Parts: sequence; structure tokens; C-alpha cells
Amino acid sequence: MKGRVRDRGILVKTSNYSESSLVMRVYTQGHGMIGILAKGIRKKQDAVLPAPLCEYDFCLYEPQEGGLYLLSEFAPLAELDFAADPEKWAAAECALELYSALIIPAEETAEYYRLLQTWLDFLTTLAGSAILVWWRFLLRVFKMLGVALDVETCSECRKSGKAAAAWDQGNSGLLCGDCLAASANPSRFELFSPAASRILGLLPEIGNYLDSLKPSGRAVRELNSFFAAYYQTHFNRLLKLRSLGVLEQFYC
Ligand SMILES: [Zn+2]
Repeated sequence: MKGRVRDRGILVKTSNYSESSLVMRVYTQGHGMIGILAKGIRKKQDAVLPAPLCEYDFCLYEPQEGGLYLLSEFAPLAELDFAADPEKWAAAECALELYSALIIPAEETAEYYRLLQTWLDFLTTLAGSAILVWWRFLLRVFKMLGVALDVETCSECRKSGKAAAAWDQGNSGLLCGDCLAASANPSRFELFSPAASRILGLLPEIGNYLDSLKPSGRAVRELNSFFAAYYQTHFNRLLKLRSLGVLEQFYC
């Protein structure tokens, strides 16, 4: 007999399996990202199917050989409904996609869970641009991954409090205007527009600017390229989030 486990988790996505079953991808507090097979759930007359982005309490049977967990029971804990706000929805999906792409150490799953849950909650009440808080979320994730990005310090002269004027295509380091002007090889650097530079510098305290900042499509593309390059520099893998393409479309 397989062991039974109980864990809370946020549903990332579901896909149909066989005639009547469902496979769920869930980020759980205690077990990280797992797959759960819900046998026959689509056949049950009165079954309420689980919905992505909602949080559930799961009772599961452990997989025998590293495969799927088997669903015993589940109960809703928090229903997050972004249906009325596709921009926030896309941002929330970005976070779930990011978590699917990350390799999260087993002893840190609960900490990452707390971050995700808190952030999704915050997103439901957000009145400003969702992309701004997405970028701040990314900064927090980078920090937890051990590759903290200090947006306020120039990677060349190490001076703090200067806005980044550009980033190095070789190592994704941020560069201040003075270092850029003094550079012998400026083609190495990708320039930030003044709007993108300002937003980047404000990210650590972005909560104070959510009412007034409306990022342009150009700034959004520039900053997304930079963050993707930063990720790639540190993990040697591309960060391609389908939902981020959707989110970008809200800023033109
Ligand atoms: Zn500098």
C-alpha cells in the first residue's frame, strides 16, 4: 500500500488524461512541483473540477516510482479569480510558469510557496500595472536563488544610487552613465531608454509608485529582455515564459 500524504498546493495547470481522468500540475508547500493524477474525476456527476491559480488542501497517495501522485481528496483553501482582469491573470500565470522552470531545492519549497502565495494575494488587490510587480517578484526570486540583482549599483564602478544607463551583453551587469561614457567598447552594451532606466531603479520600492507609473511598451520590452538575459547569464538556460508574451501585449 502506498503512503498517504497531505499537503497544500497551488494548481498550476490541468490536462485531460484518458476518458475521465485529469492530471494536475501543482506547486505544493512541502513537496514542491508535483504531478497528481485525479482518476475518474471528469466522470463524477457532482464533481467540482479544480481551477488553476487556486489553492487546495490535497490528500494524496505517494507515487511508487517517482511518477504521479494519486489524488485521494482535495478541498479548496483560497479561490483566486482573475477572470475579470486578464492583465493580472497573465502576470499570475508568469509566476506559475517561472516556478515550473526553476529547480527549487527541496528544503526551500515552503519558502518559495510563501512568496508565491503572498504575491498572488497581493496581485488580486493591485490597482497599478501588473508588470511592475511582476518585475519586483522576479527580483525576490533571483535573491532566493542566490543570484540577487542589485539594480541600484553599477557593476563597474560599484557606486550605488546611480541609475543604470545600459547593461553588458556579456555578463548582464548594469552600468551607470559615467562608466558607459568612459567605456572603450560601448557596442558591448545594450542601452536603456530613460523610462526603462527609471523604472529599474524604482523596483525595490515600486509599491510607492504603482499609482503613477505607467510603463510604455518600449520600456516593457527593454526590461523583459534584460531580465531574460540576466537569468540566462546565471543559469545557462533560456527563460521563455509564454505568459510574459501575453502580459507584454497590455503595454503598447
Ligand atoms: Zn559606474
